[in-house]
Amino acid sequence: MNREEILKALQEVHYPGLERSIVDLKVVESVTEENGKPIVTLSMQNDEAFEVLESRLDALFGGEVEIRRKASTQKKSINYGDTANPNNRAPYAKKVIAVTSGKGGVGKSTVSVNLAVALAQKGFAVGLLDADVYGPNIPRMTRTAHETLRWNENDRIVPSENFGIKIMSVGLTTPAPDTPLVWRSSVAVSALIQFLEDVEWGELDFLVIDMPPGTGDIQLTMAQELPIAAGVIVTTPQPVALDDVSRAIMMFKDINVPIGGLVENMSFFIAPDTKKRYDIFGEGGGEATAQKYGIPFLGKIPLDMQIRAFSDEGTPPVAMGDKEQKGYYKRIVDNLLAQIL
Ligand code: ADP
Repeated sequence: MNREEILKALQEVHYPGLERSIVDLKVVESVTEENGKPIVTLSMQNDEAFEVLESRLDALFGGEVEIRRKASTQKKSINYGDTANPNNRAPYAKKVIAVTSGKGGVGKSTVSVNLAVALAQKGFAVGLLDADVYGPNIPRMTRTAHETLRWNENDRIVPSENFGIKIMSVGLTTPAPDTPLVWRSSVAVSALIQFLEDVEWGELDFLVIDMPPGTGDIQLTMAQELPIAAGVIVTTPQPVALDDVSRAIMMFKDINVPIGGLVENMSFFIAPDTKKRYDIFGEGGGEATAQKYGIPFLGKIPLDMQIRAFSDEGTPPVAMGDKEQKGYYKRIVDNLLAQIL
């Protein structure tokens, strides 16, 4: 049999349990020849499915064709790297920025979105991955909540796009925005790795990841699977939030993630009517924490009713806000770029 005949025959073979051809699914890695014997190499993760296919193909070709499995197919399974020398699941991104916080509700997602959009406004190619499995609200904040997972003809996941950035969220894996993601952390980790590997991000200057809050499995795995160029830590200024943020800082240090800096969100309140500034939580807490741990202080964002409204309506303040609102995020991005470029 020649190569064309073999490929034609393979075109008719379905992946076990699916109605789709193994050629269309790109399971057929190559059709080659060694010492006159044709060799079909399959790239497959699933051991059982490989065995089924192997025996189907043996029967189909009457043993005339050797069936092999691509040696490196195990790469995709979770093969935990080492945080000091991590794997690189996102070779398409020049720099990965991981945004995290000590606890939820401090504005970590808002900062992630505005940071990503501000980087795109500077002309960089930016992807935003919502890895916050506990509160995936990037779709709402970028007005992509109506999107569902889509695959292109190469079986790659197509990211949503808005405000000049590519966006993918674990939230898109649920049928409705309010469906909880009830995932064990091992499942969450595999889903995130799939998003790193199987989303058609294209070439990126920056991949911004909105991490879950706290110091858990997912943070650790991301640090093992990606060379993170900068961890950005978001906090509010109250002492309780600062205690939690200290743990996040210590964790990044322990797992060798370079810290890009600390952002203090909801720092002070500007009354919308009088424009008077109120330091509700006292002043200087974020700066003092940054200083204590020897990390850069990237900037402050006030507690602003419009920032809340813009964010929750899916119009990021750095794109749609007034000059002052844009300025808070732009300064933070400039300070961050000074650290990592
Ligand atoms: P996290 O990701 O830390 O859980 P979010 O970014 O989802 O926090 O923000 C929580 C809520 O606070 C959202 O409703 C958001 O619009 C609001 N918010 C975030 N930053 C500000 C701010 N600077 N001023 C006012 N509201 C804010």
